[in-house]
Order: sequence, then structure tokens, then C-alpha cells
Amino acid sequence: LKITKTLETDVLIVGAGIAGIKASHELVQKGVKVIITTKTTVVSGSSFFPLKASLGTQVTKDEADKNVFLSDIEAVSHGMHDRELARVYVEEIPKRVKEYQEIGIDATRLNGTRKACFANNERDIYLLRDWEAIRKRVKTIFSEYSNLQTIENCHVFSIVKKDNKIVGAFLINKSGEFVFVHCKTIILASGGFGSIYKHNLNPNDVDGSGHVLAFETGAKLVNMEFIQFIPGITSPNYKTLFGEQTLKYCEDLVDDEGKSILDSELPNDVNKREMLDIRSSHGPFTHSLESKYFDIAMMKRILQDKNEKGYRLLYNGKIYDNQEEFYTVYLEWLKEKGIDVVKDQVLIAPFAHASNGGVVIDSFGQTGVEGLFAIGELSAGVEGANRLGGNSTGSCMVFGKRAAMACYQYVQDNELSNVDPVIEFSKIQSSWDEQDGSYSPRQVIDEIRNLMWYYANVIRNEEGLTFALNEVERLREHYSIGNYMIDPNSRKGALKAKNYLSLATILLTAMKERKESRGAHFREDFSNESTEFNKRLYISQKNGKVEYKFNK
Ligand SMILES: Cc1cc2nc3c(=O)[nH]c(=O)nc-3n(C[C@H](O)[C@H](O)[C@H](O)COP(=O)(O)OP(=O)(O)OC[C@H]3O[C@@H](n4cnc5c(N)ncnc54)[C@H](O)[C@@H]3O)c2cc1C
Repeated sequence: LKITKTLETDVLIVGAGIAGIKASHELVQKGVKVIITTKTTVVSGSSFFPLKASLGTQVTKDEADKNVFLSDIEAVSHGMHDRELARVYVEEIPKRVKEYQEIGIDATRLNGTRKACFANNERDIYLLRDWEAIRKRVKTIFSEYSNLQTIENCHVFSIVKKDNKIVGAFLINKSGEFVFVHCKTIILASGGFGSIYKHNLNPNDVDGSGHVLAFETGAKLVNMEFIQFIPGITSPNYKTLFGEQTLKYCEDLVDDEGKSILDSELPNDVNKREMLDIRSSHGPFTHSLESKYFDIAMMKRILQDKNEKGYRLLYNGKIYDNQEEFYTVYLEWLKEKGIDVVKDQVLIAPFAHASNGGVVIDSFGQTGVEGLFAIGELSAGVEGANRLGGNSTGSCMVFGKRAAMACYQYVQDNELSNVDPVIEFSKIQSSWDEQDGSYSPRQVIDEIRNLMWYYANVIRNEEGLTFALNEVERLREHYSIGNYMIDPNSRKGALKAKNYLSLATILLTAMKERKESRGAHFREDFSNESTEFNKRLYISQKNGKVEYKFNK
């Protein structure tokens, strides 16, 4: 196998969601040479998920709100977030939200203040929407910079270090050819890993390949067991985002025969109406509130019946009388998709949505590997066991800017290192075994996505996690990546299968290690939060061995 091209730049940015776009823009304005890469197009990832009407960014109200905001984050995180990163977020987001305009995103403030998902207090929310218009504006802005090169439809698959310092990376371009990017530094902004789940609310390019890249390069991961699951619409329009606020007008959740699936799950002291009202205040599942029975009931039935069709919401007609913007924007958007929540049969099921954990960083996005930065959903920051709504988009802006500042300094202080791409490429190739492998990449990918959805979803237990881990091991034993790297058309799939094997093992093991329930992580067999686990789970590699350690 041969490298077809070598490119040279100061900074390689992996990812073109909000975080990658923000960091690129900051750097090119300062005259730094940047290559920005994406698996699809510029303006992609969860940031611009086509099946959602809008995204919100939560902003500190004023000086007095700073401590209140921090205590909101603290309450929601259950001790699992990074306090310094939260402090920086609360301090800097009011300035960063004004910079959306510079990168082509028209962020408009919602009328009045409102509580973001899980927030105890109201503050300003800025809405981002109209993905196509944003795409056009970003492309126009980027075209003004001759020091910026864009590579779309590519897959960055290996990072090269020399003397423990970043010197470049390999990617597969849209024709399936191998390209070496010789650079001083890399900013990973590759988003979350939702698509490792069969049913997810992410685009396919959000597949955790950045987590595997960072981990293989020596960065640490943390909080990987905390993943958000949101009810998503399975029918009449599969993979459409469900507006939890509508549950205020929902009477019940029923099966095919019209029988409530909630009744048998609710303890005697929990009232269904009150439970649904609480559930209407937050999108993702959490073990921390009584509304948990809504998602647990659904998942129990799914596991019992092996039913992926979802369950039907029974609405009352009054929902269309509510003229609040929060309702009208969502219901109008559903109407454009041909959905009337009262007239149509709307079915829902839990979908994977966002990762609260990720790569360990400092407040400048530095990973501890010289020259390697991580920002956006890929990194672990202000989110903990739960995620306060509206902080993820904002974090892309805050830490995108800070990583760019640190990266700029790094570029000034360092020369391009000498590296021989041919030698480096041959080292990578030697790790691609070509033994007998009976499973194709497609089979590995599909089986892992299925296992994750059933056994690493809202309900987790020792038996299910162990079964899934053993299955992943079986797939690994029967998969040989080398067989699929020869044909240019099968290379990206082959690498995805390899990444899924690594990532699934990490995720399932992390879920097994945390033998308690906390926030987004619910263990049926350890259903209480335990002070013994008031620690974050760090994952690192030492001498080729993966280590899982709880630490403060
Ligand atoms: C449906 C939905 C609703 C949400 N609502 C909100 C909300 O209201 N408020 C909020 O704050 N957050 C929300 N979030 C979360 C938030 O949108 C994301 O956390 C954030 O946008 C992630 O941005 P990012 O730039 O880090 O990554 P992404 O936007 O996911 O971008 C990732 C980029 O990396 C590229 N990439 C990945 N791997 C590679 C590779 N190996 N090589 C090259 N390119 C690669 C992808 O192609 C893509 O361009 C929501 C998420 C979803 C899915």
C-alpha cells in the first residue's frame, strides 16, 4: 500500500462541527496555516444534525449569576465534572456567544429567560438554526482565507508522534487513497460516538473515531459511562427528535394493544401525571429524578419483547393551544415533517444522543500529549453524570477559542519536525493483520451497534454487560482488518469496525466498573448512588495495557 500525497500545514483540525469551525477561524485569522478535515462536509456532526429544529446555548445572565450557574452545574453533575473548566465556561460564555456571528451562525436570543434542561435556574438561551444557511455562510467565510484548506469526505485514522511530540497524521481521502499530513499540532474536534448505537440521534460521522485516535496517541479518557439517552421518534418519521416539553400534554405511553406500559412500573407513591410533568422538563434520561420510570419502563419492555418499534404516546388536543415559542417552533417543525402529534400515532424509544465524558483536557484543550488538543463533545469538561442543557454548544465556542490560542503559541514556538512518512506508514501497516477473519467490517459494525443498544442503554446490569463484552471479544477474534485495507472502497468501513471494537470494549468495561447508579448511568443491579463511587473513572494505557482507575 502506498501514500499518494503528502501535505504540509501548521495545524490539522479533525472535525467541522461548531468546535472545529471555531478553532479554525481563530487560527486562520492570525495567519496560521490550517487544514480542516471532516468525514462529510464542512458544517456537519451533531452541531448541525439535520433532524433537529434548533440547538440552544445557555449563557451566564450577569455577575450575580456566576455562582448560581456553577451550583446548577454542580448539582446536575453529581460531582463528576471538571470544576476549573466549569468556572472558565461560566466566565467566558457571555463573550463567546457574541462570536457565533463571526463564524456564520446566526444565534438569536429566546424571548425572556428560561430553564435549560436540568437547570434549577432560568438564564438566557440563544437559539441556533437553519443549517443550510449556516453552511453557505461558513463556506463563504472560509473561502476568504488562502491559508485554510478544507478536506471533506475523509477519515483521519492515525496520528504520528516522534519523541513524544505530534508530527503528523494519516487520512484516507474521498477516493480511498492514503494521504499524510505533516503538521506541528493537531486539534481533535471529532464530536461524540452516538452512532456506535443502533438507534441514535446523531449523524453517522459521529462515531467516536477521535476517541480512539486520542487514546491510541496517549491521551486519557474519563466519564465514558455517562451517555445521554433521549426518547426519539421511531414512527411515523424514524430518528426525529422528540420534544420532551410535549409530555405536559401526554396522558400515557402504551403498547400495541393500547395498554399502559407505565402503570406496572410506577411505585405506589409516584403519581403518573406528576411523573410525566417532571419528565417534560428534561430531554435525556436520568436516574436522579422520579421521571426515571418513564424511560426504565420503555427499556424494560424493549428488553423483554426484543421490540424496537417503540411505544405510543397518547396526547390530548390542548397541546396545539399552547402558543409559547418553545412549543410552536417544535410543533410547526414536526408539521413540516408531516407529523401531527394528536392525529398521528407517534411512537418513541430511547436513542443514544450525547457523550458526557471523553478525552481529559485542561482549560486550553491540552491533552497531556505534546501538540495534541481536544475540544467539543470529544472532550470531558463541564458535563458530569448528567449534562446541563445548552452547555455543549457553548463549550465548543469557549474551548475552541482557548485551544486555538494555545495552539497559536505552540505553532510560534515549534518548527515542523522531520519525519519519514513511508517508514511511519509501514509501521502502521504491520499492525494490520491479514489472518483468516470470518467477519466482514459490516457484520462487526452491525453486531456491535446492536449489542450496545440492547445491553449498554438506559438499563445496564452485570450479566448484560459481561455478555456484550464477551460478544465483542468473539467479534475481535474473527475480524482481520488487513483483509479489507487492500480495496480502497472498503478501507473506511474496515477502520470503523476496528475502532468500534476498541471503543465498545472501553464503554462496556467502564459501565461494568461503576457499580452504582448516578445520573445518566443506571445499573439495575446497583440501583442507588453510592458515596464509594464519588470518583471519576479514568482510562489510560500503560505498556499496551488498558487501565481503569477511579480517582477524584
Ligand atoms: C439532536 C441533538 C440535539 C442537541 N441539542 C443540544 C442543545 O440544544 N444544546 C447544546 O448545547 N448541545 C446540544 N447537543 C449537543 C451538541 O450539539 C454537541 O455536543 C456539539 O454540537 C458537538 O460539536 P462538536 O463540534 O464537538 O462535534 P460535531 O458537531 O459532532 O462534529 C464532529 C465533526 O468531526 C468529524 N469527524 C469525526 N471523526 C472524524 C475523523 N476520524 N476524520 C475526520 N473528521 C472526523 C465529523 O465529520 C464532524 O465534522 C445536541 C446534540 C444532538 C445530537
